[in-house]
Amino acid sequence: MKQLVVETSARSYPVIVGTGLIETELMKQLERLNPSRILVIADSAVQNLYGDKLMRAVSSFPSDVYAVPSGEESKSFQTYYDIQTFALKQGLDRKSLILAFGGGVIGDLAGFVAATYMRGIPFIQLPTTLLAHDSAVGGKVAVNHPEGKNMIGAFYQPEAVIYDLDFLKSLPESELRSGFAEVIKHGLIGNEELYSWLKQEIRNVGRINDSMLQRMILQGISVKAAVVKEDEKESGVRAHLNFGHTLGHAIESGAGYGKISHGDAVAAGMLFAVWLSNRTLGADLPYEEIQSWFRELGFPTEVPSDLDTDLLLGKMMKDKKASSGTITMVLLQSIGECRTQAFEKDRLKSLLEIWRQ
Ligand code: NAD
Ligand code: ZN
Repeated sequence: MKQLVVETSARSYPVIVGTGLIETELMKQLERLNPSRILVIADSAVQNLYGDKLMRAVSSFPSDVYAVPSGEESKSFQTYYDIQTFALKQGLDRKSLILAFGGGVIGDLAGFVAATYMRGIPFIQLPTTLLAHDSAVGGKVAVNHPEGKNMIGAFYQPEAVIYDLDFLKSLPESELRSGFAEVIKHGLIGNEELYSWLKQEIRNVGRINDSMLQRMILQGISVKAAVVKEDEKESGVRAHLNFGHTLGHAIESGAGYGKISHGDAVAAGMLFAVWLSNRTLGADLPYEEIQSWFRELGFPTEVPSDLDTDLLLGKMMKDKKASSGTITMVLLQSIGECRTQAFEKDRLKSLLEIWRQ
């Protein structure tokens, strides 16, 4: 078991990563918080697999479970409202505690419930996907609105993040790969040593063992925690976390959500950002090396050919970080060192066309 501390203005909280933590570390946190009631908000697939184990671990407190169907559709205002109704009917009060038991969907949803139920009650993240190393830390919680993803939300920090690796054993390889793209992102933007180790050791996501998982989760989280500490509310460097995501989100949305995984889209987006860094910042990044590593890992190394460049640019202009005719890209001066750079739409379009050829 290993631990690090995330510091924010609201509170400092531990992130604990290891195996068998539900019986030990979760218990310690529950004893510290001594909640009047516990509400487990769970992904139904995760609850089916591990719900009995979790409920045994929390059985010394009055507890309820609310399981939501797996998938992004559950990050909705309706589900949020239904959970609030359930919580009120079960008699949760201001001393009650929420446990978010699942991947990023559950963390965002349960976190937003916790942030707003009776003006805010404590919650603990129990992440069960690799991608959740990104989402469980930093305090962004939200539900989606038909007008846009994550549009209704808050900044609200958990009491603790307990990453029990035993739960990740059942994660499908495609989900592991999607989360792995974000680990690579954290290496590229903030930790050269993490990047080099990943590139050296991980050539097949199917062969990632517990000790590798522990290391990549902790180091990825520490990059994110450092960025969040410097810029909690996203007015400056927090934008660096968007590396690979400007084009990545455009690919995801252009292809139609669910057609291409978030990690695959971000991998292609990161590759373009690396190429663009060399081309426009005069950086000397090992583009070909990264490209062939991504190929080995099974990530796409180009944008699907049926996605039109104009369509992608249109999507990139709609990005939250775009303003007045320019698109801001997060680039790398070197591995571990980010720069943001604004591009005129037409210039970025011609660069994207050159890269795609
Ligand atoms: P997810 O929560 O939908 O989980 C992915 C799939 O894996 C689901 O089908 C789920 O049922 C299944 N699953 C989860 N754990 C499992 C396990 N242990 N064994 C077997 N199956 C399991 O998706 P995700 O990729 O974890 O998270 C994506 C969400 O995270 C998006 O909504 C995104 O907006 C959000 N996100 C938030 C932040 C943030 O800062 N708050 C950052 C990045 C992403
Ligand atoms: Zn992402």
